Amino acid sequence: MDLYEHQGKELFRQAGVPVSDGRLATSPAEARAAAEALGGPVVVKAQVLTGGRGKAGGIKLAADPDEAEARASEILGLDIRGHVVRKLWIEQASDIAKEYYLSLTFDRSAKRGLYMFTTQGGVDIEEVAAESPDALVRLHVDPLEGFRPWQARRLVYGAGVSDPSEQKQIAAIVERLYEAFVRFDAMLCEINPLIVTPDGLVKALDSKFTVDDNALYRHPAIAEMRDVEADDPLESLAREKHVTYVKLDGEVGVLGNGAGLTMSTVDVVTFAGGRPANFCDLGGGGDAQGVVDALSVITRDPQVKAIFFNIFGGITRCDEVARGILQALSEMSLELPIVVRLDGTNAEEGRRLLAEAAPENLRVAPTMLEAAKLAVELAA
Ligand code: GDP
Ligand code: MN
Repeated sequence: MDLYEHQGKELFRQAGVPVSDGRLATSPAEARAAAEALGGPVVVKAQVLTGGRGKAGGIKLAADPDEAEARASEILGLDIRGHVVRKLWIEQASDIAKEYYLSLTFDRSAKRGLYMFTTQGGVDIEEVAAESPDALVRLHVDPLEGFRPWQARRLVYGAGVSDPSEQKQIAAIVERLYEAFVRFDAMLCEINPLIVTPDGLVKALDSKFTVDDNALYRHPAIAEMRDVEADDPLESLAREKHVTYVKLDGEVGVLGNGAGLTMSTVDVVTFAGGRPANFCDLGGGGDAQGVVDALSVITRDPQVKAIFFNIFGGITRCDEVARGILQALSEMSLELPIVVRLDGTNAEEGRRLLAEAAPENLRVAPTMLEAAKLAVELAA
């Protein structure tokens, strides 16, 4: 789950990473009030789940409450790469002497946290990595050992920070970032830019924070931060029903059991000349409620013209899935053509049940490829 800048900064603050004071605003009037409460110049920042807001005109300085109100009315409603701005973060403006970059991500291949630090911050980090890779210091953290102070020193010296006060402050932030990463089960904590003010103070001016979805049950307060309005409505519906669903762009609705089989099903539909409308994994079960939930999510997408139901019975038995399908279809009215391919445990029994009792719009195909071809044909 990706957090908004202001949410990430709240977690930074809790972990002891220095950030500026700020207030949330959803209207120009609220932005004015926030600027009044904060006092002095502020920065008006679009809260959207995408980077590069500065370049897109989503971040503007305001000298006083009047200007804050004016900048807020310019930024609210702005479309930043498909994300419409509905919230603003009004923050005490900082003077910037230097812009650095610091992040801690989960490196899957190394199975460890990975720090990256460079004094060439503010810009796209991919650019730094491509153009001056030597300027980017990378360092893994062994999860069993945890953070060690020498690691912070290696990052700071490695990147060539020479000011002793900066070295000390950055080393402390590096350590606190580890604390935030572990405490909140993060996948990514990124500070770009990490600034040094003309007075020599180091702080996080931006935050990119991703929390592991599978750990959200341990963090009810973070789970609450999810912005349901900004989510794709189909994906929210799927989440509510505990259905694993990813919207794609085609016409053939795909339903399979198990992530691997479902991915293959998506491939086979493409191979047969069609375009999958979604990825939907029924999981291990195949009970009627699971089928109803999955079908109700898939058919909510108006682009779907046919459904390909691909089941391989391992632990799940095909006859149970067939009963689930039949019960689901008796509970919901569905006119779209459905092609079912059943194989594995009790497949014959399952096919027999479907042949006996299924409605006209349901067809059974013997193999995955034939089923895909039929579904693609019916969707055309
Ligand atoms: P991003 O463009 O989405 O990464 O948003 P950031 O929060 O990183 O802001 C983009 C840029 O705006 C920063 O790199 C700064 O140069 C500038 N900026 C943001 N906040 C302030 C501030 O308080 N004072 C000044 N002078 N510039 C700021
Ligand atoms: Mn940034």
